[in-house]
Amino acid sequence: MPEQIKKKRVLVVEDEKNIAMLLAYNLMQAGYGYDIAYDGEEGLKKALTGGFDLILLDLMLPKMDGFEVCRRIREKLATPIIIATARVEEVDKVMGLDIGADDYVTKPFPMNELMARIKANIRRSSNEVVSAPTLSADSIITIRGLVIDQSKYQVTRDGEPLELTKKEYELLTFMAKNPGTIYSREQLLEAVWGYEGFYGDTSSVDVTVSRLRAKLERDAGRPEYLFTKRGMGYYIK
Ligand code: CA
Repeated sequence: MPEQIKKKRVLVVEDEKNIAMLLAYNLMQAGYGYDIAYDGEEGLKKALTGGFDLILLDLMLPKMDGFEVCRRIREKLATPIIIATARVEEVDKVMGLDIGADDYVTKPFPMNELMARIKANIRRSSNEVVSAPTLSADSIITIRGLVIDQSKYQVTRDGEPLELTKKEYELLTFMAKNPGTIYSREQLLEAVWGYEGFYGDTSSVDVTVSRLRAKLERDAGRPEYLFTKRGMGYYIK
C-alpha cells in the first residue's frame, strides 16, 4: 500500500470570525488541514498539543495577546509561527522583542501572498530537519575571529557567542558561504525567507541586516564583516 502523504496542518489563532473563516477556506483549498482558536488562551493550548506544522497568529487577541502566546509556544516548540499584524508599526515591535516568530504579514493580507509564505515556512522547517545531519566538517565557516558552526547553529566572535535570531543566523550563513559576493535584497529575500516569485517586502531584509549588524559588529557604523553596496545589496567580507 503506498504511503499516504500526511496533510500539513495549520493552526489559525484569530478572534475575528469572518477572517478566521476566510483563512480556513483558503487553507482547505490549498490542501492543508486546519484548526481555529478564537482567543489567545485557546490558541496556546491547541498549539502546545504539537499537532501543527505552522501557526498563524493574530496579535490582538482576547484573554492573552499574540506576543505572549508566541513567547510561550516558543518555550516548548520550534513550529514555524507567522504573526499577523494589523498595523505596520507593530512589525518593529515584533522584530524588536525577539519573541521567536519566524515571519509576519500585515493585514489586510493578499491571500496568495499569505499562502506562499505559509508554504515557504513549512517547507523550510521540514528541510531543516532533513538536512541537519548531513552537515560535515565544512560546516564551520571562519572569517577573522567570526566562527559560524553550522552543526550547532552557533556563531561566536573572538570566542564570545552571539545571540542571533533564526533569520539573522540564516542571513549571515547564506552570505558568509560566498564572501565578497553581493546579494540584492530580492535574492536574500528569496534565499532566506523563501518567497518564490513574491517581491513585496524587501524591507524585512533591511530590518534583519541592521539587527544582525548591531550584534555582529563592534561598531555598527564602521562594519568589519557585513557591508552595504549602495544601490546593489549586501555582502560579507
Ligand atoms: Ca484580532
